[in-house]
Amino acid sequence: MKILISSCLLGEDVRYDGGNSSIAYTNSFTFSEKEKFMDILCENEIYSFCPEVSGGLPTPRPPAEIISTKKPFIVKNENNDDVTINFLMGAKNTLDLCLSENIKVALLKSNSPSCGNEKIYDGTFSSNLVEGQGLTAKLLLENDILVFNESQINELYKFLTKSNKGK
Ligand code: SF4
Repeated sequence: MKILISSCLLGEDVRYDGGNSSIAYTNSFTFSEKEKFMDILCENEIYSFCPEVSGGLPTPRPPAEIISTKKPFIVKNENNDDVTINFLMGAKNTLDLCLSENIKVALLKSNSPSCGNEKIYDGTFSSNLVEGQGLTAKLLLENDILVFNESQINELYKFLTKSNKGK
């Protein structure tokens, strides 16, 4: 199965701080989760993608948060620069890739203003998480693409095992 994965989860240094969120090399994941993640990588067709880089933002870049979660969306970085267009472009580019490659499943980084599928920071730059989705995750979900985050590796693994068996 084709799976879109946030580039930072694959170890690419594309995060705002110039680092990554590698699942394979981060101690917060159990050995079992890492094993399942490696199985997922080996047994599926992986598309690595970073919406924010695709949307034209540099790395490193100032952290950004979603100020308005409803249309018209507003995303600003901590310097108060409006980066909404970059986030929207990144979301569109991600969806375009999924549609052109017929990708129906994504594993995206949690809590990101682009990739978060369940929670995002509240727009005050005070580390408060609230229910909500990043702009890319939201657009994918609206287009019936399943989105998992890195704390849902077991669920993704189960889903893929079931789906791949059905082929
Ligand atoms: S936009 Fe997504 S893929 Fe890119 S660094 Fe942020 S969380 Fe990772």
